[in-house]
Amino acid sequence: MCVSAGLLLSSRDESQLREEKMREMSGRCLCGQVRYSATAEPAIVAVCHCKNCQKSTGTAFSVVIGVPKSAISIEGPVKTFHDTGDSGQSVDRNFCSECGSPIFSDVALMADIVFIKAGTLDDAALARSKNARLLRQRAELDSDPPR
Ligand SMILES: [Zn+2]
Ligand SMILES: [Zn+2]
Repeated sequence: MCVSAGLLLSSRDESQLREEKMREMSGRCLCGQVRYSATAEPAIVAVCHCKNCQKSTGTAFSVVIGVPKSAISIEGPVKTFHDTGDSGQSVDRNFCSECGSPIFSDVALMADIVFIKAGTLDDAALARSKNARLLRQRAELDSDPPR
């Protein structure tokens, strides 16, 4: 995920994040060695079409869920690729060192939030939480992603 100015402007501030109703969510990589759990309502659901997300996921776009960093715990053999987003700020892309599944990203522009790849969630329906905002980054490549 590389965060554009549009995404940044649409995000919620920290006080709003704290008011979110708590919810348990969990997920894992393909091989199961990296697992995470979080007690938080997704603050942001974003669909990122940037070139680097396309490269790192091998698909036309990346669906990510932003949760407060303080609410998530991650275990397992995670490797980090230090990337740079469209903003010029750093984006750390974290993936399982065993199976290569992209798991989550740390975006310097939004340091309090971890962006989880929605496909790694045990319950992908969380990505449709009514409290989350769906944001889209348009790219040259693609039309609307499926809902
Ligand atoms: Zn991106
Ligand atoms: Zn794995």
